[in-house]
Amino acid sequence: MIRFLCVLLLPVFLIACSKTEPADLVLLGTVHTANPSQPVAEGVAVRGGRILDVGDETDLLAYIGEGTRVVHIEDGAIYPGFTDSHMHLRGVGERELMLNLEGVTGIDELRQRLAAEIAARQPGEWIHGRGWIETHWKPRRFPTREDLDEVSPMNPVVLVRADGHALVANSRALALAGIDRDTEAPFGGEILRDKNGEPTGMLVDHAMTLVTRVMQPGRVDAAEALITGARRSAELGWTSVQNAGTDWAEAMLLRRLVADGRIRIRIYNAVEGPGENAGKLLREGPVVGLYDGRFTLRGIKVSIDGALGSRGAALLEPYADADTRGLITERAEDLLPMYRTALQKGVQVETHAIGDRANRFVLDLYEQAFREVPAEKRRLAEPRWRIEHAQILAAEDIPRFARLGIIPSMQFSHAIGDLHFAPARLGESRLAGAYAWRSLLDTGIMIAGGTDAPVEKGDPRIEFYAAVARRDLDGYQDAGWHPEQALSREEALRSLTLWPAYAAFEEGERGTIEPGKRADFTIYGEDLMIVPLERIPEVPLFMTVVGGEIVYRNPELHETD
Ligand SMILES: [Zn+2]
Repeated sequence: MIRFLCVLLLPVFLIACSKTEPADLVLLGTVHTANPSQPVAEGVAVRGGRILDVGDETDLLAYIGEGTRVVHIEDGAIYPGFTDSHMHLRGVGERELMLNLEGVTGIDELRQRLAAEIAARQPGEWIHGRGWIETHWKPRRFPTREDLDEVSPMNPVVLVRADGHALVANSRALALAGIDRDTEAPFGGEILRDKNGEPTGMLVDHAMTLVTRVMQPGRVDAAEALITGARRSAELGWTSVQNAGTDWAEAMLLRRLVADGRIRIRIYNAVEGPGENAGKLLREGPVVGLYDGRFTLRGIKVSIDGALGSRGAALLEPYADADTRGLITERAEDLLPMYRTALQKGVQVETHAIGDRANRFVLDLYEQAFREVPAEKRRLAEPRWRIEHAQILAAEDIPRFARLGIIPSMQFSHAIGDLHFAPARLGESRLAGAYAWRSLLDTGIMIAGGTDAPVEKGDPRIEFYAAVARRDLDGYQDAGWHPEQALSREEALRSLTLWPAYAAFEEGERGTIEPGKRADFTIYGEDLMIVPLERIPEVPLFMTVVGGEIVYRNPELHETD
């Protein structure tokens, strides 16, 4: 297959054939447009960052002229630029640059990796790691401060769980933060304790700030982390990412990096709320489509509960495996005024809700805000507010998304990671409303698909596979894991292209391959729409194209240019 992929500069004789001003770029190969009126084509021509034409190869050859770059994709396929509807750009970059604990197989390996890091550091220096997840470990248990103390008695250590909703700190870090048996957890947080009442080192949700606020600034530079995160996203095939929750300074830094051309993919941003960041956006209003549509800031990201793995997700009934219902981490009276102003100012709201109680809480609040600020008093009659994750839903809440015009922003990979522990947390009957993609689509709405990276790996192939297979990467599916909720490949494609564009008010500009839209493409070396299911996660990426510009090209998949 590799030898068929080649990049050619145009043969000179074709210049004579040009029927019009030549294109900058002509891509020839199978095109899946995600446009129902012309689902498949043989190529696409691009000029000035926009799509000139989509059609048969013979039509497209006529656009080849002087300076046209022609790329033949023999066995692969061209898709609209993939968009990650929910990710954390800085976290993705930091994961690459700091102690990366992704894929650690147990406490022993966690300790080995930590010991290696400490050997390279000064005594007393803070160690900050991220990415461990215990759900596959044997025994499956949270790490404790004692686990870390043995390898790090002198350096304060903070290791954040992959989901970003919990961390383990060693005794040195707890001491510097002043956390002991008498410390009370802040609202919306939890300090896990052993049978003697001593902190185990595990801090959940808002309790994490007890230690993170005393940490020295990490060695990772913010600009470097953002650039690294954007570069990694392009290398995975993302042409656009929706950055779920940043602070104002970071958003302004991002804007500068995009303006300077140091970030070349598109970034759609939401700032954290409630608080000063959200207040500033509400006062100043959204910033939309700067630098050829590469930078937008128009959202507020709110978080309302924790994660299912750490039992922070807020459930209507207690967990099946613990005597708790999880935590709602915000108060309605703190959110409603912000929600009302957001409607008046045309600011989009995206609220993180995992548990069924959290989802109902948010649906109720959105509904109340919509009632109090009716369409004629809003900046945008159709505000397209979102619920991030929408992971566990009570049956009666599923139709409310369509009724209220709320977009579920979901991460298919969560379902295939969580299938190993969610049945234990939720019990059989609640699984019917868990990761309920088909039930939601059947109400007539769209699902904006995303990765939640660095919580998950952040690879579009894994999301696509998870959406259509609803099995883990080994092909495993727990009994009762509702295979009927899986998506078709056409739906999976739309959920990573057109539907995220809609969720960002960008469907007129991108999301399908149609003349006039921005020339964003994700190109794979094999066709995701036809390869066997188990091949999907391995299909090689060929190119990532943003606004007609090749921002990533797989060095192993071309021979000549
Ligand atoms: Zn997230």
